Amino acid sequence: MKLWVNGGLHDEETARVSVLDHGLTVGDGIFETVKTERGETFALTLHLERLTRSARGLGLPDPDLDEVRRACAAVLEANPTELGRLRITYTGGLSPLGSERGDDGPGLVVAVGATSRRPDTTAVVTVPWTRNERGALTGLKTTSYAENVVALARAREHGATEALFGNTVGRLCEGTGSNVFVVLDGRIHTPPVSSGCLAGITRALTAEWTGALETDLPLDVLETAEEIFLTSTLRDVQAVHRVDGRELAAAPGPVTAKAMRIFEERAARDRDPRLG
Ligand code: PLP
Repeated sequence: MKLWVNGGLHDEETARVSVLDHGLTVGDGIFETVKTERGETFALTLHLERLTRSARGLGLPDPDLDEVRRACAAVLEANPTELGRLRITYTGGLSPLGSERGDDGPGLVVAVGATSRRPDTTAVVTVPWTRNERGALTGLKTTSYAENVVALARAREHGATEALFGNTVGRLCEGTGSNVFVVLDGRIHTPPVSSGCLAGITRALTAEWTGALETDLPLDVLETAEEIFLTSTLRDVQAVHRVDGRELAAAPGPVTAKAMRIFEERAARDRDPRLG
C-alpha cells in the first residue's frame, strides 16, 4: 500500500514518522475515517469540517484541508479498492522527549484499507465504564482511543461487535465507534451531543433524513426499546438484534428497516452537495 506521510506518497514498508511524535507518545492527535466506494469519498467535506473542529479543540493548528484533499485523492488513486476506508491521522508532531508539543509542526498521515459490507444486524453489550460528558476531549475525534479498545474487547468476549456507554449521570451515550438510536412508540430517538457522544456524521444525516428526535435517555432504555440501531461511517445504519442478554424480535424491525432504506437511497451520490 502507498500512503501519504507529510507531503508525499510513500510505500507502507518504508514510510516513516518519528517515534517521538506526540501522537504516539501521548495520543495527542486527531483522526477521521472516511468511507470510499470505487475511488470516491463519501461526505469528505463533513469529515474535514469535523477534523478542523477536533484540531481546534486540541489546540493543534488548523489542518491544511487542500493538502488533506490532495492526500486523499493521491492515496485513493494509488490504491484502487472497491469499498474502502480512508484513515486521516493528524498528530501533535515531533517533540523531544519530556518536552511539550514540538515545534516541528503536526504530522499528517493518510492511508486506505479495504472493507467489506457490514451485516444488516449485530449484537451489542453495555459496559460499566462511562463516557465523560464534560471532559476536555468530549466530542473531539482524538487518537486517544484506548478506552474504546478496551470496551470493544469486552464486546467481542460476548460475541458482540459494539459496546455501548452511558455517561457519568447514567444517560445513554454512544458506542466505541458508532452512535446509537432507539425506537420508542414507533418514533426514532438518539442521544443529544450533550450526552458526551461524538457528533457522528452518519448520525446527523440519519437524524435529518428520518426525522429522528434528539432525546436525553436513560441507559436502561435499552432494556425496553422496541428497536435499536447503530450508525457510523463503516456501519451506515445497522440494526441491533441483541443487547446484552435481550434478543430483539425481528431485527431489523420495521422502523429500522425503513431508516436503512432511507439512508441508502439518500446517500447515493449527487443528491446532496455536502456528501462529495
Ligand atoms: N462515536 C465514536 C466514538 C466514533 O469513533 C464514531 C466513528 O468513528 C462514531 C461515533 C460515528 O461517527 P461517524 O458517523 O462520523 O463515523
